[in-house]
Amino acid sequence: MNEKFEAVIGLEIHAQISTRTKMFCSCSADAFDKEPNINTCPVCMGFPGQLPVINKEAVHKGLKAALAFHCEIPAFSKFDRKNYFYPDLPKGFQISQYDQPISKNGWLEIQVDGQKKRVRITRLHLEDDAGKLTHIEGGTLCDYNRTGVALMEIVSEPDIHSPREASSYAKAIQTTLRYVGSSEADMEKGMMRFDASVSIRPKGDTKLYPRAEIKNLNSFRSLEAAIAYEIERQTFLWDEGKPMEQDITVGWTDDHQKTYFMRDKEGADDYRYFPEPDLPPLVVTPDFIDRLRKEVPELPVEKQERYMSSWNLSESEAVLISSDIELARYYEDVVEKTNDPKKAATFVTTILMSHMKRDGLSVTEIKVTPEILAKLITMVNDNKVSMNLAKGEVFEAMYMEGTDPEEIVQKKGLVQMNDTVQLEALCRKIVEANAKSAEDYKKGKQAALQFLIGMVMKETRGQANAAMVQDILKKILT
Ligand SMILES: [Zn+2]
Repeated sequence: MNEKFEAVIGLEIHAQISTRTKMFCSCSADAFDKEPNINTCPVCMGFPGQLPVINKEAVHKGLKAALAFHCEIPAFSKFDRKNYFYPDLPKGFQISQYDQPISKNGWLEIQVDGQKKRVRITRLHLEDDAGKLTHIEGGTLCDYNRTGVALMEIVSEPDIHSPREASSYAKAIQTTLRYVGSSEADMEKGMMRFDASVSIRPKGDTKLYPRAEIKNLNSFRSLEAAIAYEIERQTFLWDEGKPMEQDITVGWTDDHQKTYFMRDKEGADDYRYFPEPDLPPLVVTPDFIDRLRKEVPELPVEKQERYMSSWNLSESEAVLISSDIELARYYEDVVEKTNDPKKAATFVTTILMSHMKRDGLSVTEIKVTPEILAKLITMVNDNKVSMNLAKGEVFEAMYMEGTDPEEIVQKKGLVQMNDTVQLEALCRKIVEANAKSAEDYKKGKQAALQFLIGMVMKETRGQANAAMVQDILKKILT
C-alpha cells in the first residue's frame, strides 16, 4: 500500500445458523446439493395469510455466538421487514432486525503477524436468507431451498486496515462460530459469506470517506484479493485528485480479479424498514442469558493463552492447535493421557498435521486415536522406542492401520536399545571404522559427532537410544 494512505475496512459477515429447520417455518434448512425447490412451504414462499414462527434454536445459537463475541444482549429486541424486490426473494421483503437487534457492542481479538488486535463488533442480528439464482442462456433459474434459512449477520466497526487483517478477522469469526456450535461456517457450502466496505484516507486523518462495499465474497482468498484491488483502485483515484464522492456497491469477479460497479449504495431509507407485524418482540431474561453464558466454551484465544502459559507451547503451536475445536479436543486428550503437553504438541503439529494435510483428512477422520498416540509418546518417554522410529516407521504403521504402537514395535523388532554395554561396544566399533571423523571431532568439528551418531543409528536401524549414543561417543572421544 502507498505510504501516504491508510485503508479503512469494515466487514459484514453472514453465517448460516446450524438449525434443522428454517428461521420462520418448519422446512428443512439443509439446502446443500438438494433437488431445487423441494424445501419450500407457503410461509417461506410468502403466500398471503401465512404466519411466520420464530425458530427458538436459531435464537439460542445466535445469542451464544453473540456472547462469544462479548456482545451486550438487550432485554428486548424485535424483527423488522426490509423491503426490496428481487427474484430470489418471493416474499418481497427480508425479515431482519433493524434498530433493535438481539445483540450489540462486542469485540473479537485477532492475531496478525504476532500482534494482538481487537476488532469491535457493532452488532450481531438474526435474519432469513434469500434463494439462489442460476443464470443460464436465455433465462434465470430460481431455487428457493435456501429461502428462509436462518442467518446471523455480524457487523464489524471499520477497525480493520489491511487485507491480511480482514482475513484474520474473518477466520477468527469462523473458528469462534465453530467453537460455540452456532454455525458450521463451511464456505464451500455457502454457509459463510462476506461483504467488505473499503475506503482509504490520507494517513493521520480520522475522517471516514466514501466507501465501496464489495458484495458476496465467498472465500478468504477472494476477500483478501478484492480488498487489495479496491485499495489500489481508490489510491489511484486519490493520486489523480478524484477520490470517490459517494458510497458505491461493487461486485468481485474471481476470473478477472477485479471489482466492478453495481450501483450507488442503497441507504436504510431505501428499504422502508418497519416492524414485522406478524412476529412478537423477543424478550430475554438475565437468567436465561446467564445459562447461555455457561454454555460458551473456552474460546480459541483463551486456549492459546493457556497452552502458552501453563503448557509452555510456542505461539505457533498454540495457534495451530486451537484453530480447530476438534483438533484442540484431540490434543488435550493426548495431554491428559501422557502428561506431556510439549511432546504431544510436537507430534500433533508436525507429523500428525502434515499427514492429515497430505490426505485432506480432519482429525475426526483419522485412524490414530488419542489413546494410541498417547501410548506412543509414553513409550518414547519410557525409552521403549527411539524418537526417530516413533516419528518414522512406527507412526506410519499407526497412521495407516490405527494399530497399537506396542504391537508394531514388537512385531517389527523396533524396541529401543538402552543397554549401555551393548551400545558402548557398538560405538567403539563405529569410531574405529571411521577414524577420520573421530579425529575431526577431537579437533573441534561438531558435525563429525553428528555423523558418528548417524552411523550408529544406521547400524541399529534407528533402534539405538540416540541420547545415550551421543553421551557414549563423547566419552570415548575425550
Ligand atoms: Zn418453509
